[in-house]
Amino acid sequence: MIEVKEWIFERERMVKEQIIARGIKDNRVIEAMKKVPRHLFVDKTYYHQAYNDYPLPIGHDQTISQPYMVAAMTEILELKGNEKVLEIGTGSGYQTAILALLCSKVYSIDRISELTRKARLKVDNLGFKNINLIVGDGSLGWPDYAPYTGILVTAGAPEIPNTLIEQLDENGRLVIPVGNEFSQILNLVKKHKGRIYRKEFFGCTFVPLIGKSGWHK
Ligand code: SAM
Repeated sequence: MIEVKEWIFERERMVKEQIIARGIKDNRVIEAMKKVPRHLFVDKTYYHQAYNDYPLPIGHDQTISQPYMVAAMTEILELKGNEKVLEIGTGSGYQTAILALLCSKVYSIDRISELTRKARLKVDNLGFKNINLIVGDGSLGWPDYAPYTGILVTAGAPEIPNTLIEQLDENGRLVIPVGNEFSQILNLVKKHKGRIYRKEFFGCTFVPLIGKSGWHK
C-alpha cells in the first residue's frame, strides 16, 4: 500500500485513544489501523471527522463502520498473513483495505454497485494488488474461491447463513453480527475437525444484511 502522510497525527491519536485504550492487542491490527488513511474512504466533506469514534455515512443509506468495530472484528479473525478472506459488505472499502494488509488475498462483495465502483477506485489508487471486488448477494458467499480461512460480515444478519459456514475452511473463522434489524451480537463461528463452534462477543449495531440468506426486502 502507498504510504499516506496526511492526517497521520489524527490517525495515531485514533489508534491510541479508541483502539489500544479499548483493549485491542494484536500488533498487526494496530499497525494496519495506523497505516490505512480512513479519510480517503469518506466524502471530502467528512475528512475532518474521519478519525472520530463513530460510523459515517457513505451514501445509499450505508455507513463506514466505527474504527474500533473494524479493529475488533479484524482481531477476532486472528489473521497471521497467509489467509484467504471473504468480506461481505465492502461498503467504503476501508475494512477491505485493513484486511488486505493482514492476509494474502481478500474477496469482497457488496450488493450496491456504486459503492463497489468507488471502493475499487480507492483501493486501486492506494496500490492494493490483493483485493478482488464484486457486486452481488454476499449472503450466499462467493463459492468460486471457497473455502476461506476467514469470513467477515459487516452487515447484521437474522441468523448465521449456512452457505457461509459451508464456505469456511477447516480451522476457519467466521465473524458476523446476528440479531434483529436494530441491534445484534457479534458472533464467531469456528470450524474444527468438521464441527462447528459458536461464541458470542459484544452487542453492536449494523445496517441489515439484505439478501436470500439475510433480510428479505
Ligand atoms: N465494512 C464497510 C466499511 O468499512 O466501509 C462497512 C460496510 S456497511 C456497514 C454494510 C455494507 O453491507 C453496505 O455497503 C451494504 O450495501 C452491504 N450489504 C448489505 N447486504 C448485503 C449483501 N447481501 N451482500 C453484499 N453486501 C451487502
